[in-house]
Amino acid sequence: MPPMRTAAGRNKKPPPEGFEDIEDTLLEFQNKMKDAENASHDGKKKHEMIWPIFQITHQRSKYIYDMYYEKEAISKTLYDWLLKNGYADAMLIAKWKKQGYEKLCCVRCIQTNETNFRSTCICRVPKKTLNESQDIQCVNCGCRGCSSGD
Ligand SMILES: [Zn+2]
Ligand SMILES: [Zn+2]
Repeated sequence: MPPMRTAAGRNKKPPPEGFEDIEDTLLEFQNKMKDAENASHDGKKKHEMIWPIFQITHQRSKYIYDMYYEKEAISKTLYDWLLKNGYADAMLIAKWKKQGYEKLCCVRCIQTNETNFRSTCICRVPKKTLNESQDIQCVNCGCRGCSSGD
């Protein structure tokens, strides 16, 4: 008999209890995401095309975050499962727990790497320290300001 192999694709365990209650909302996010991905590229810059994707990812993560931490409407088991299955951005949520990052739009905006010379994105700067006429919109995700002080 050939040795049993545990194929990753065979993990067809049903989602934890409570999933049905949020399934519709998750489906809505999924549809929005599909629309964003299939949206026409006409007249848009390449980076503008990915903004909606980031924004929807953010909204979905926020929804799951609120359901667990704010409303306590889902179980830890379900919450962990959702994170593991990519329904929410675990890295982003980890940041929201830190003071000053409660409204962070996407992790790219605080990442320092070789391609990004500024350590912090314009959208992280509190509005009151900026010129009123200054138009804040970051190129990473199209965020118009996510400083906790706003
Ligand atoms: Zn931002
Ligand atoms: Zn930004």
